[in-house]
Amino acid sequence: MKTAMKELVDTIIRNADALTMDEEARVLRHIDIAINKGYIKDIGILRDYEGTEELDATGKVPLPGFVDAHTHPFQILLRGSLSLKDLNVHPIWLKVLIPFEAGMSEEEGILSAQLACLNMIRKGITAYADSGGPYPDVLGHITDLAGIRGRITYSTMDKSSFESYYHRAEENRALVRKWGTSGRVQGYYSIREIMTSSDELIEKTFRYAEEDGARIHLHIAEEFSEVEHALNRWGERPVEYLYRKGFLSSRLIAAHSAFLSDYEIQMYAETGVNPVHCPTINMTYMTFPKVPHMLNMGINVAIGSDGGSYRGLDMFTEINVAMASLIGNYGTPYYDFGSLKLGSFLRMATRNGYLAIGENMAGEIRPGYKGDIILVDTRKAHLVPLYDPASLPLFATGNDISDVIVDGRVLMKGGQVLTMDEEAIVKKAREISPQIMERFGWHIN
Ligand SMILES: [Zn+2]
Repeated sequence: MKTAMKELVDTIIRNADALTMDEEARVLRHIDIAINKGYIKDIGILRDYEGTEELDATGKVPLPGFVDAHTHPFQILLRGSLSLKDLNVHPIWLKVLIPFEAGMSEEEGILSAQLACLNMIRKGITAYADSGGPYPDVLGHITDLAGIRGRITYSTMDKSSFESYYHRAEENRALVRKWGTSGRVQGYYSIREIMTSSDELIEKTFRYAEEDGARIHLHIAEEFSEVEHALNRWGERPVEYLYRKGFLSSRLIAAHSAFLSDYEIQMYAETGVNPVHCPTINMTYMTFPKVPHMLNMGINVAIGSDGGSYRGLDMFTEINVAMASLIGNYGTPYYDFGSLKLGSFLRMATRNGYLAIGENMAGEIRPGYKGDIILVDTRKAHLVPLYDPASLPLFATGNDISDVIVDGRVLMKGGQVLTMDEEAIVKKAREISPQIMERFGWHIN
């Protein structure tokens, strides 16, 4: 008897109870997922396929990779050096974070990029959007080697007391031309903050981005002093100004978006802006963004960690903080604890993040979508029983992620990172920390 030839694909995940994160947030039980040439080829009981690489997902839950839609890879070496009291040093980004980045050596920049990418793989972050740093090209190369998706840009500003750290729109244009706007690692534009940017820099950045078909990352409506600044400078709130100038579009990644008026939210809805809620830092430092209102208006809200210096890069933690705080603020006063659904938070951290960075065919486990999938190992005391895998964010942390696949390539398998030398990076980070402390030790208390 002749047996039919099995079709060979790059990677197959077997025996999975998968969180698809499609619009109905379906859980598909006992299925296989075949990935070939970077895309999900098929899902179901796949007896006719054979994988060059096969992962047994028994006891594990696959879901689309997380997207950290607002992060600062070049601040990761500050981890554990900033106390909550430092937030009183207002504004901390201008008084502490920008001086730290401005004084960073290239050696520290390389290590920061390596440590950030390593952390992201470990925590199941398959794609990130950097809001701008000192060595984006270095970050691009390291991201490429690590195997995840990244959006890279210079920290862009031309007004502050750190002239040595000014970066112009032309430098981002060179990055965009070098890295392109369609690959796994892409260059894009950014404005650090309107308060540290001239009108000319803002206008040029948006014009270049439009001409190059590139995205733009912006800290916006981040703090009260920024709203005051905009009212004094333009007689308008920050988003009103951008709207009047015609700068708002779906190419804009709008980090924080915490202090928005209802009119500004309407402007987001009308133009397709992608706000990024950074739960831990928004709750600690800013305010409650109107996330339920924005979601109800069809706005694509994503989630960001705001970098690893305060609370690490854990999207499950961010989802939990977002859930507790937003339901507390918008639900509890009305005795309506279901004002936001668990699936909405998971979708913000996956599908919405991919849409924000311009990956329209990613962020769901669905044939034709990109093969970016993470596996959570649920064979642990704190994850059994787990009747509905959709309840994972309530119990899991990023440390429960055991396998990471991007573009169909396995980057972490059974808890082992395959694309980076974890031991060497951790050793170097420990060695370099006294030199960082020497420069910034006075912030530790
Ligand atoms: Zn930020």
